[in-house]
Amino acid sequence: MMSVKSFLEYVATLPEDCIEVKTEEETRFHLPRKESVVCPACGSTYASIDKYHLQRLRGLPAAVGAYFYNRRRYRCKDCGKTFAKPNPFLGRRQRAIGNRLRQIRAQKKITQGQVVEACGVPLYLYRKYEDNAEIPSLMVAMKIADYLNTDVLELWGDQLSSASK
Ligand SMILES: [Zn+2]
Repeated sequence: MMSVKSFLEYVATLPEDCIEVKTEEETRFHLPRKESVVCPACGSTYASIDKYHLQRLRGLPAAVGAYFYNRRRYRCKDCGKTFAKPNPFLGRRQRAIGNRLRQIRAQKKITQGQVVEACGVPLYLYRKYEDNAEIPSLMVAMKIADYLNTDVLELWGDQLSSASK
C-alpha cells in the first residue's frame, strides 16, 4: 500500500509525456507504456489497447487538488478478453490512496491521542496502524472501529482481502 506522500512522489517522477493535465486544481496522468503486455487469461503477448478509463483517485488531501488516473485497458488478440495492468499505487480492491484508518479518523475530527486513550493502545503501536498499514489484533481492531463508530471491514476490508490472496 502506497502512502499519500509516496504516491505524490511517484506521479512527480513519471515521464513528462505521462502527465496529461497539470494545474493547481487537477492532475491527470497515465502510466508509461510497457512493451511487454501479457494476457492474464491465456498468456498471449498479442494485446492492443482497448480503451482508456479516467478514474478519480480518492484519499488524497484536498490541498493537492484532484488526481485522475487514465487507466488503460487492453484486449487480447488471441482470446478476446480484456484486462488492465496492475498499477503500483492501488491494490486490486483498494478504493483510496493512503490509509483508510487515518482518513476515517480525520473525517470524524478525532485525534490519534483520543483514539489511543479510549482504546488503551500505546501511541507508538497505533501509529504503525496508520503509518505502516499494520493490521491490529481483532480485539483492538474492534475497539478502534467501535470508538470511530464504524466497523472493522470498513477500516481494514481492503487490506484483509489483499492479504488473503
Ligand atoms: Zn488472451
